[in-house]
This record gives sequence, C-alpha cells and structure tokens, in this order.
Amino acid sequence: MRIFRKIGVHVQERLDEVVLDPRRPCHGSIVTHGHMDHMAEGALMTPQTRDIMGVRIGSRKGTSLEYDTEMEYNGFPVVFRDAGHVFGSAMVRLNDIMYTGDFNPEGGVTCGKAQPEECDVLIVEATYGKPGFVFGPKSDVVEDIISWAETQLESGPVAMSGYEFGKAQELIGLMNKVTDDVITTDGIADIADIYRAHGVPLKYRRLSEVTEEDRRSPHVFIGTKAMLKRPVSPEIESLRKLGGKTAYASGWCGIYNFGRSYDVDAQFPLSDHADFSALMTFIEACNPRKVLTTHGQSKDLAREVRRRLKIEAEALD
Ligand SMILES: [Zn+2]
Repeated sequence: MRIFRKIGVHVQERLDEVVLDPRRPCHGSIVTHGHMDHMAEGALMTPQTRDIMGVRIGSRKGTSLEYDTEMEYNGFPVVFRDAGHVFGSAMVRLNDIMYTGDFNPEGGVTCGKAQPEECDVLIVEATYGKPGFVFGPKSDVVEDIISWAETQLESGPVAMSGYEFGKAQELIGLMNKVTDDVITTDGIADIADIYRAHGVPLKYRRLSEVTEEDRRSPHVFIGTKAMLKRPVSPEIESLRKLGGKTAYASGWCGIYNFGRSYDVDAQFPLSDHADFSALMTFIEACNPRKVLTTHGQSKDLAREVRRRLKIEAEALD
C-alpha cells in the first residue's frame, strides 16, 4: 500500500489506484465535495456533489454513489460517509483507510455531521490544524448570528455574506429560523435550488425577481464576500442608505479581522471545518495506527498528533 500526494492524494495497492480530490480530471478520481478547489469531471462523487458541479462548472460528468453504500471502484471497495462540511460532502472509506476530505464533526443546518470511525490509516485535512485555531462550539456562534440578525431586523434590512457555495446556503438556512423574507443573488440561488431539489427546505427569493419595494422592506440579504469589499456593491450601498447592517461569516473571522478592507458591522467565526480541538478529538476517536495530514497546517497537525496523542503521524504535503 502506498499513499502519497501528487495530483491529489493517491492510494495505490498493487496495480489499483484511486486519486482523492485531484487538482484536475484523472483516472480513478474521487471528489469529496463541490468547492472549486476539489471539483474534477468524471470522478466518483455523491449525487448532491454531482448536481452542484453541474451548476458550478456546467458538467455532471461522473459516477455517483450515495452515502453509506459500498461500490467497487478501481479495485477498491468505496463507502462515502457524511463529512458535515457542506451539502453533499463526503469522507471516503477505502477498506481500513479513511480520508476525511474537508470535514466538520459539528455539521450544519444544510448537511449532517462527520462521525469518527475506527480505521487503520486516517488521512485527515488540516485547515485549522494549529494549536490556537479554536472557535468554541458552533452552536454558540449560530446563536450569536441569529440574535444579532433578529435585533438588527427591528430597525432595517440586514446583509450577510459568506462563500458562494456552502456558507451562503447555510446562512439562508440559519436566517430562515428568523424570517422567510430572505433575498439572495442569482448565483447563490442557482446553487440553493439544488439543495431544495434534494429536500433541504430553504426559503429565499432571487434578487432578479424581487420588486424595488421588496428591496426596501426589512429583509435579510445573503450575498458574496466580494459585495462587502470597499467600495461595496450597489446592492449593499442601497441597503446602507436604508440603515441596513452588514456581517461576514467565516471560520477565518476567528483568526483575522476583516473590518479593515470590508464594510462589516459584525464578523462571525462560522466554520465548516473542524477547528484544532475538534481535529484532535476526532483523530483520537478514530483510534488509527497511523495519521497522514494534508491541506493547510499539515506539518503542525502531524507534530501535535505525535506529541499529544502518541500516534505515528506525518504530513503528506
Ligand atoms: Zn471545502
């Protein structure tokens, strides 16, 4: 068995090979979710990810596999588990190897949660794999977002922004706990339509379909991060004229201050990745013989796994 990083994370057993999250289309590829840095045509993926890819890159080319169902693929028995990262995201089980891809044990309102599983080799993402990259419980962040939005809506519209796929739809789901009066960009709505088609009950209207009067009413607008960058987009500018408040949601808000370049009244560390302490807890619960780390802070995470958990660990990057 050989595991190494080249086009993606390669797992080889004799003549059989799969490539996890390849940078470009290749034979035996498996794509864990629909973020742009992960998508490749022709791969094995969940049906949700395949539909997201259809909207984002205009191709649904690939093989789909439902969660918790085994399929023989390029000589490996493959099973997908919910990764709790974004809608459709999967962790990949290959025999006694587990690859997390981007994952979050706390999940979200538009996806399930990543559950630890016993395995021999755990290949784990290390986006926040550095001691100090800790956000506290996601439920606290969610409560903060909801109460902030409720308060602001009493005096005017609210604009919230996040990454176009995943975070933006999660924000629609969270804001629907406060109001059904959510307006979003057509790009975010195109992706959210796929969620709805798969049974995720999001309520929103597209910007291109609402009237001038709707835009002036106290509502929640969900946009992209770019719309908040100074000088702000025309939509944000007109919300501001009505006394509207703005917020940005990203795990990185727990580490950096976006207030200097972005016009934001509030910043929420709403993450779709495991933070450092969640990574350590998850790894320990999987009880692996060996840990391989990839993406982000892979060297730091491998060192902390060796030091704190006394498990053999190395960075693939
Ligand atoms: Zn991702």
